[in-house]
Amino acid sequence: MEYERERKRLVNSLREYNISEKTLNAIKKVSRHLFVPSVQIANAYIDHPLPIGYAQTISAPHMVAMMCDFLDLREGLNVLEIGAGSGYNAAVMTEIMGKKGNIYSIERLEKLAVFAQENLKKAGYSNVEILCKDGSHGLPEHAPYDRICVTASAPCTPLPLVEQLKPEGILVIPEGKRYQRLYRIRKDMEGNITKEDCGGVIFVPLVGDHGFNMLCGN
Ligand code: SAH
Repeated sequence: MEYERERKRLVNSLREYNISEKTLNAIKKVSRHLFVPSVQIANAYIDHPLPIGYAQTISAPHMVAMMCDFLDLREGLNVLEIGAGSGYNAAVMTEIMGKKGNIYSIERLEKLAVFAQENLKKAGYSNVEILCKDGSHGLPEHAPYDRICVTASAPCTPLPLVEQLKPEGILVIPEGKRYQRLYRIRKDMEGNITKEDCGGVIFVPLVGDHGFNMLCGN
């Protein structure tokens, strides 16, 4: 397989983050070079975020891997991602989850929604559905979700996402403007919410009704 040696080297470099074997296996399988613009192919297996156009980025592999581990992904789950971007994070999630289960991934920029859809098709992933809209409202038509993964930073936790989470569900979301933290939010069987700080991160902003409003610059 193309770039197999590069992928193995990348996976070895991720071991220092204590990533689970099931996530490392998924990273080993997904062809990241199919998810970056052609000028970035030479950098595809470096553990670094890369520009994908329209002022957006594909996250660094260690960040994708850490978020997948925080989500505790398993076969058969109903998963929502906000911020499809290149489609790479969705591809890694679907590799971990196997053929059973659903992933819906929302992207607000139409050109990137098409980019993500095409990349996933090239890479052979047919079980991710990309939708173009403001994902800060979640996706009520397929709710509730076992897992919600937000790959853009919100000013605070969007309420619709908490409402669309199943009991025993997990939401992973970066929050903050310049100073951002990654949170793991869990809902228990009684509907009680706990919020755990998983550390400092850097993401592009979540832009939308329950995100940042680019017009008033909040
Ligand atoms: N998960 C992506 C990384 C995407 S970067 C990957 O693996 O490549 C974050 C993405 O979130 C950007 O593409 C941005 O356009 C998108 N985004 C920002 N606000 C959004 C919103 N309200 N709804 C959906 N997508 C949004």
